[in-house]
Amino acid sequence: MRYILALDEGTTSARAIVFDQNGRQRALASRPVHCHYPREGWVEQDAEQVWEAQLEAGREALAGAGLAARDLAAVGITNQRETTVLWERATGRPVAPAIVWQDRRTAPMCERLRHDGLEAEITRRSGLLADPYFSGTKIAWLLDAQPKLRERAADGEVLFGTVDSWLIYRLTKGRVHATDFSNASRTLLFNLEERRWDGRLLAMLGIPPEVLPAANESSQIYGECDPEWFGAPIPIGGVGGDQQAALFGQACFRPGEAKNTYGTGCFLLLHTGAEAVHSRNRLLSTIACSPAGEPAYALEGSVFIAGAAVQWMRDSLGLFPTAAASEEMAASVASTGGVYLVPAFVGLGAPYWDPHARGALLGLSRGTTAAHLARAALEAIAYQTRDLVEAMERDSGVPLRELRVDGGAAANNFLMQFQADVLAKPVVRPACTETTALGAAFLAGLAVGVWKNTDELEALWKKDRVFEPAMPASEREQLYAGWKQAVERVLR
Ligand code: ADP
Repeated sequence: MRYILALDEGTTSARAIVFDQNGRQRALASRPVHCHYPREGWVEQDAEQVWEAQLEAGREALAGAGLAARDLAAVGITNQRETTVLWERATGRPVAPAIVWQDRRTAPMCERLRHDGLEAEITRRSGLLADPYFSGTKIAWLLDAQPKLRERAADGEVLFGTVDSWLIYRLTKGRVHATDFSNASRTLLFNLEERRWDGRLLAMLGIPPEVLPAANESSQIYGECDPEWFGAPIPIGGVGGDQQAALFGQACFRPGEAKNTYGTGCFLLLHTGAEAVHSRNRLLSTIACSPAGEPAYALEGSVFIAGAAVQWMRDSLGLFPTAAASEEMAASVASTGGVYLVPAFVGLGAPYWDPHARGALLGLSRGTTAAHLARAALEAIAYQTRDLVEAMERDSGVPLRELRVDGGAAANNFLMQFQADVLAKPVVRPACTETTALGAAFLAGLAVGVWKNTDELEALWKKDRVFEPAMPASEREQLYAGWKQAVERVLR
């Protein structure tokens, strides 16, 4: 039996999972990762703590599986995307706190880029938007914040990386400074079509190219983990940003295949094939993980508030004791009785893009109960997902065949059935919901020959349950029209 260690470095935890060659999970370990909020809108992490948490989780998972490093065929890495680390080449020490993807401190810089009319070119080259979310403006901010840092960066003394790159640097003890295409495509500095760093984007943001990692295939050998870390050298064979790794871990290898992750928010990615599709609905175009030499692209859209609306009802309204209890409550009524929740708590993303919109509960009557509200919250997650699916289908011309799901709220059977009903497409929940880590393991295993091709991976990917659409079309379209009207009421 051959084994792969997947390192899954997320925003709140560093996890590690050992998979065997049948794609089965053998052990899991997790360590918290701490976020710091030094000012309104700022979110930072200590890159050193991230590294230590990830190393400990990796060691513990290996021990938990009863394995030694020599039993591992490869390590795969997946990570929170866009989070920006700068470190010293000579010592491998961070020169500043890592700026986390959620951090909004570079909003004025992005505003300036838009004001100067540069956003269209940024989008054309990178597939992204002039938004603080992405790494580029975060790097520029860090280089401006300390005297001499920009100079040292131009001299090659200071290196940039997203978290994958940072972990690779530490795992290889500074021998490898590299990232993969999927992570690179989230930096605002990478040319989507040419699949290389873009000189014009670097110039626009004033970033010296000397700081950049090599950009590699998601599935190839990057180097070896130093024996100090796990007891023997192990090749690093796969690297992917978390959402793209999840798309791969869901065995979405062909155009028209898509996955949605139902967590705090939702992340929906649609495989669009070997060429990038540019969105007309301000969805992001991004590089998908793929076997070496087989370029793949995806459209990506996100919903800001999904599971978080359930959390809000639980914690702020006290409507139910656990998120899972929302299922039984919602199913206890036959409909919301005309109630809609528009959870625009932090504005609305794709396809509405209104940062000023705020949430609303509409259609309340004297007969409205907590159960109707719980149901409205879950239905809102499904409606927002349909909004994204429709925008993606319009952009790509690729009809979605079925939706593969994961994330905490995908456990909710009511939500999944309603999702199938409102999309009129099958919703498929896999047996292994650790799709992000599984994707990293798949990429690593392909690189070292544990698996030969994606057909073999497809055979490993197992369904737990398929939710078939069962709602009459007239009812579906009437409910969805009600949602669209509700959204109209909150747009500014
Ligand atoms: P994240 O990784 O974004 O923190 P998770 O994938 O762990 O999120 O999912 C947690 C989110 O999903 C929370 O917002 C929670 O309210 C919601 N959630 C978890 N379980 C359920 C459930 N059974 N039904 C509805 N929502 C759920």
